[in-house]
Amino acid sequence: METTREIFWNVGNVALLVYLLAAVVVFIFIYAFIQRIKLWKIGKEEKRKDQIWERIKSVLVFGFGHKRLLTEPYPGISHFLLFWGFVILLLGTIIIFLQEDILSPIFNLFFLHGNFYLWFSLILDLFGLLAIIGVLLALYRRYILKPERLDNVFDDAFSLILILLILVTGFLTEGARIAFTRPDFERWSFAGWQIALILNPSWTESESLLIWHRFFWWVHLGLAFLFIGYLAYSKLLHIFSSSLSVFFRSFEPKGKLDPILDMENQETFGVSKAEEFTWRQLLDADACTRCGRCQDNCPAHLSEKPLSPKKLIQDLKTNLLLSAKALQKENPDEQRKNLIGESISEDELWACTTCLACQESCPVFVEQVQKVVDLRRYLVLMEAKFPQEITPMFKNLETNYNPWAFGFASRGDWAKDLEVKLLSEDKNVDILFWVGCSGSYDDRNKKVSQALVKILRAANINFGILGQEEKCCGEPARRMGNEYLGQMLIQENIEILKNYGVKKILFACPHGYNTFKNEYPQFGGEYQVYHHTDFILDLIQSGKIKITKKIDENITYHDSCYLGRYNDIYDSPREILKRILEGKIKEMERRREKSFCCGAGGGRMWMEENLGKRINQLRVKQAQETEAKTIASACPYCLTMLSDGIKEIGLEEKLEVNDIAELVASLL
Ligand code: SF4
Ligand code: SF4
Repeated sequence: METTREIFWNVGNVALLVYLLAAVVVFIFIYAFIQRIKLWKIGKEEKRKDQIWERIKSVLVFGFGHKRLLTEPYPGISHFLLFWGFVILLLGTIIIFLQEDILSPIFNLFFLHGNFYLWFSLILDLFGLLAIIGVLLALYRRYILKPERLDNVFDDAFSLILILLILVTGFLTEGARIAFTRPDFERWSFAGWQIALILNPSWTESESLLIWHRFFWWVHLGLAFLFIGYLAYSKLLHIFSSSLSVFFRSFEPKGKLDPILDMENQETFGVSKAEEFTWRQLLDADACTRCGRCQDNCPAHLSEKPLSPKKLIQDLKTNLLLSAKALQKENPDEQRKNLIGESISEDELWACTTCLACQESCPVFVEQVQKVVDLRRYLVLMEAKFPQEITPMFKNLETNYNPWAFGFASRGDWAKDLEVKLLSEDKNVDILFWVGCSGSYDDRNKKVSQALVKILRAANINFGILGQEEKCCGEPARRMGNEYLGQMLIQENIEILKNYGVKKILFACPHGYNTFKNEYPQFGGEYQVYHHTDFILDLIQSGKIKITKKIDENITYHDSCYLGRYNDIYDSPREILKRILEGKIKEMERRREKSFCCGAGGGRMWMEENLGKRINQLRVKQAQETEAKTIASACPYCLTMLSDGIKEIGLEEKLEVNDIAELVASLL
């Protein structure tokens, strides 16, 4: 007997019918998928079609390689097995279909025999089994373990069970065939062989096996066709939409806000309707698989505020689908739901700290933060609707160039007794120290500025400050949706820096650092920027400052969102701590990419926290669990929020917060 098998064995002359049915379901899928693409394309234009090779690489690494998914072993491995099992089985099915009636007659190509057939059988059985394990793990997790982040709708169960049934009936079909034909080489189909032994223990020819085989074959085929037809109408669409989302991911600096380019002439600002998002932002709505990873890392959600980044995307999707007929002009009069207010509440929008934890954890690169800011822009610039406590903050930024009521002329007062060079007096400096609003006005953070001055002096760095000529970097206004004010401050700062020919800037504040590094170039401001953690580490490593004493205690380090997730600076602060500590760095469970926000980003520093728990207190408790006596931070917002949290919980005797610069300066 030749080492091969007849593809349509025992089912009669049905090849044509099967190909016709396959064409119909594939057509249904393609039609529905094109409708979906048309819906995404209702969004505005956005450039995401460059760097094709990088994009292909992303799909290989994050799609096929599951790089982000595998950061959580259980769901990652389960999905990996299911995904790869299905991919290999799909390829196998395509090979079978093509060679039987298309390639073979035309090209005389018949490769499913001999050794190829044996290995083909072995690999397909192996991956089929792995796929079954993947589905069972997913079902167990979803319906027995029931993690809070997963919500279960009919589609979830139906999709998983459908896949499981396709896989199981595939094996049963194979088992029934082997049980009847019993060729020895089919041992290579090891799973089918075992099923054959169960179906036909006496290993004799039995007519009933033919009936069973035909039954399993048709059920398997029917389910497979149902799967294809159902694809575009279910969460299974993510196989394609999530891949597209990874392909069209942003290669811009993480969390960089898109500017409103023509503030003077544009008539509307921000987004209040789904179609005002870009096509890429609308694609996100279908790419989201509701896996809940973003929600699991969202400080707003974890502190019981109304915001969940997963729900935000799903609410956008529901709004988009409800509006689809009106948008596609099939039914222009169709009643639509307001995106802000009815689909997404204002409380949700103002709860976001723009910490980027959602985006960093999303396996398919959904982008929440720009959407939140776009919706805030509409509220602020078109409707003048925002939490009332930020009214004075906006006003202060306009008149005093800082968020508080301090006069702009006193901005440099913190350095009065230190005789720090002002650029207005002598612009010949090697680097400008951008002090920032907190470092200039907030008493606690002034100490950080002074500590940094001490370090720079010890290293003989020729630096200066702008004093009262420095203005807020514009970051809080932009993140709160006040693009107009943000851009005004940015332009004014760029002008001042141009006057002095500034090229290098040092920051103690990650918010200023991030804005200058990643967003000022949008407006023509290009500088070499340094965060003090990188800068100080370099001073230590190059021997410009000498650490002769050490701090004899264990310290925990709090990663600032804008330093870590936004700019990937995780190691420098830890390296500094290693060099100045006698004790150890006691890491918190939520650290580095998964660090927990202090609660101040996105302008939340100036808003009341009336809903849910206080984020800063949650973070302080996480720090307390390490039993360290000091939290080291590298951001003025974090310093303020964590100091407040310590006081609010009453831990002043047990825990304190110090900036890395203060810790280093204390040893000089
Ligand atoms: S940026 Fe942070 S706070 Fe905002 S939705 Fe994402 S995880 Fe939540
Ligand atoms: S946005 Fe991303 S992380 Fe969040 S639920 Fe959707 S797919 Fe998962």
